[in-house]
Amino acid sequence: MEAQRNFIAGEHCAALSGRTLDVLDPSNGEVFTTLPRSETRDVDAAVAAARAAYRGAWGRTTATERGRIMMRLSHLILRQHAALAELECRDTGKPIQQAQADITACARYFEYYAGAADKLHGETIPYAQGSTVLAVRVPHGVTGHIIPWNYPAQIFGRSVGGALAAGNACVVKPAEDACLTPLRIAALALEAGLPAGALNIVCGLGMEAGAALAGHTGINHISFTGSPQTGTAVAQAAAVNHVPVTLELGGKSPQILFADADLDLALPVVVNAIVQNAGQTCAAGSRVLIDRAIYAQVMALLKDRFEALTTGPGLQGPDCGPLINRKQFERVQAMVDAACGDGVQVAARARLVTGAPKGGFFFEPMLLGAVPPTHTIAQAEVFGPVLAAMSFDGEEEAIEIANGTPFGLTAAVWTRDGARQLRVAHRIEAGQVFINNYGAGGGIELPFGGMKHSGYGREKAFEGLRGFTTVKTIAIQHG
Ligand code: NAD
Repeated sequence: MEAQRNFIAGEHCAALSGRTLDVLDPSNGEVFTTLPRSETRDVDAAVAAARAAYRGAWGRTTATERGRIMMRLSHLILRQHAALAELECRDTGKPIQQAQADITACARYFEYYAGAADKLHGETIPYAQGSTVLAVRVPHGVTGHIIPWNYPAQIFGRSVGGALAAGNACVVKPAEDACLTPLRIAALALEAGLPAGALNIVCGLGMEAGAALAGHTGINHISFTGSPQTGTAVAQAAAVNHVPVTLELGGKSPQILFADADLDLALPVVVNAIVQNAGQTCAAGSRVLIDRAIYAQVMALLKDRFEALTTGPGLQGPDCGPLINRKQFERVQAMVDAACGDGVQVAARARLVTGAPKGGFFFEPMLLGAVPPTHTIAQAEVFGPVLAAMSFDGEEEAIEIANGTPFGLTAAVWTRDGARQLRVAHRIEAGQVFINNYGAGGGIELPFGGMKHSGYGREKAFEGLRGFTTVKTIAIQHG
């Protein structure tokens, strides 16, 4: 595949230094293209292009017209659905059916925010006699978007969709491990009628291009999705310039199974919540809390389901694809080895398809049984297909274990008892709680974001759109 290039001021360009980074196919470990290794001066050029667009043609575009451009972009994405899904599959390693769903979701973000663009109203405020006060919703200006490798297309759509609809000009730093679909979609945006410079993409390493964007004085807002450690670094860099930040960090989301749960409904969802994207999902359901009365029964059923799962190259459509890279593979393996060294039992393991390439970063999904809730494997984000199962006695203990990690992103409560459903949901410390279903972040219409170490600010839905605006008060004394 030909070398990838940045997208700045409507033009594709190499990094100013000419340096590149290799891009590996996680299904076989082979290099299949290169990315520009951008640095501060490339980011400077992208921010300048965004500022010029914001002060120029894009800044003068009406909300209705912004919406129309985004709707055209949504249609263009759908028209290229198959090619984009294949690219996403190759770049991230995820099973092709998941890549297809991701491209559909990306198009849906632009569709949703297209419709929302001209429905974002301000307020009027009763004030002094003879005056009118307007609280007008205005864009931040130039927004920075630092996105991870696990859902490049979806998180691009989620973040940029809201920001553009609100009238911001964007500079995106996608992840060095997977960023091909954002580059393709940015070019489609131009075809959809987006003025040059309203959307810019700068590829490169987190410590170089990412850090340059996070600390840039020309940025007015940053939206970051990724690890808690990098989130801290981004927030610190932005704080120097007093730039607001939205942080969407990791999770250790619990699936709580009460004794009266509908297991036929629950168990396929519980398995999918950890196997989806090989567990590399911030909202992965990585803990299953099981009422002691049904623990043995549930573990036997989960074992059957785990052992029936296939792991293999994404394009073959397995249940689980490879992890993103060797570093991530070694990290997951080390965490599991440490847990097993402490006596945690592997209750079940999925299988690798025959003929899977030797160089692929395959980690077969694993079910760990009777995990102590305070053990690292039940507390820290593994970011791999590893499900930690544990039992509880009664509602109080279930809530205590569910809330007993530093994270608070999502959770699911499985019970037929209506009063318990809401009682527990209200006490769970998480940005989203699902009852008798689970959405790993849920639909585009649902506000999404964390509590505690899972971050702050909300994306998706109208809530996300508001986050890409600020309020300007205009007070008129007219007598
Ligand atoms: P990361 O947080 O380091 O990377 C996310 C993005 O931030 C990438 O675009 C990266 O280039 C950029 N970045 C890295 N350092 C930066 C810096 N100093 N300043 C600005 N931007 C910077 O994540 P990773 O290294 O790709 O993965 C490590 C761990 O992060 C994973 O094991 C997982 O636990 C977690 N993770 C979480 C999510 C999520 O959706 N919550 C996504 C990806 C990774």
